[in-house]
Amino acid sequence: TEQYEKGLEKSRSSFGEKLNALLANFRHVDESFFDDLEDMLIESDVGFETSMRITDELRDEVKLQNAKKPKDVQNVIVKKLIDMYDKAGNGENSSINMAASGPTVILFVGVNGVGKTTTIGKMAKMYKDQGKKVVLAAADTFRAGAIEQLNVWAERDGVDIVKGKAKSDPASVVYDAVQKARDENYDVLMVDTAGRLQNKVNLMNELSKMKKILTREIPAAPHEVLLVLDATTGQNAMTQAKTFKEATDVTGIVLTKLDGTARGGIVLAIRSELHLPVKYVGLGEKVTDLKPFDPNDFVYGLFK
Ligand code: GDP
Repeated sequence: TEQYEKGLEKSRSSFGEKLNALLANFRHVDESFFDDLEDMLIESDVGFETSMRITDELRDEVKLQNAKKPKDVQNVIVKKLIDMYDKAGNGENSSINMAASGPTVILFVGVNGVGKTTTIGKMAKMYKDQGKKVVLAAADTFRAGAIEQLNVWAERDGVDIVKGKAKSDPASVVYDAVQKARDENYDVLMVDTAGRLQNKVNLMNELSKMKKILTREIPAAPHEVLLVLDATTGQNAMTQAKTFKEATDVTGIVLTKLDGTARGGIVLAIRSELHLPVKYVGLGEKVTDLKPFDPNDFVYGLFK
């Protein structure tokens, strides 16, 4: 929670403080209050339709509960936001679907620069610290430097890595990695992929080829397909999410750089428009700055 509070400083100073200012002047439930609230939600990247819906529901709820004091109104808003987040999903929580036996395979997708490599590095350390045997697959053979960058994380974390040559077929890296993971009894295999959105058909083909190889070697794999999104890119992140969701079966979101944005509301937009669970959030660059997403911590972190 402390880390959430720190990581959400920027969002809080824009959203939480604005709301608090709005509440300080709150005398009675009138339309201008809800108009201002709706504007604030939109400015925080909650998305236009979701903001309207939240505002409508809040208007009803505030009336229903006959909330008059600013603190009571704030409580209604906080509870409602958490409730809406929960209801927009299918009862999932932030936990990763782990294999009952054998290696758990996690495929990471997302465009360059969103923090994919960093997220893999952070999660690898987390699993390593839990005593798990971890191997990474550097299957982003397209971008110069991607393999080396993942290698740096592997060395830093003290975990193993399977690398192909630059420009080699990513599917062959995946093939080598999944065989190693299975035959040498690894607990977790994390696969870094190239997220080229320029050509959706290519992206689909590449991802489905990798998935086919994984499933052939380990029937339940991949156990998770995590889409990494950069919170600072706002509506762009939403567009990316829609495209990836169409290209492959995304099972969850990792939302990075929440510490770098004043627009944490993107979490609500992702959830209510795409119905995908946010599983982890990045709250900084350090290896310890990755946290399981918790809607309570998140919403309370916005207001504190
Ligand atoms: P990739 O191209 O998707 O693999 O992206 P990288 O993992 O190389 O990350 C791009 C940049 O974002 C790097 O400078 C990371 O340190 C930074 N980064 C990643 N996650 C976070 C985060 O949660 N917060 C902040 N502030 N920076 C992050």
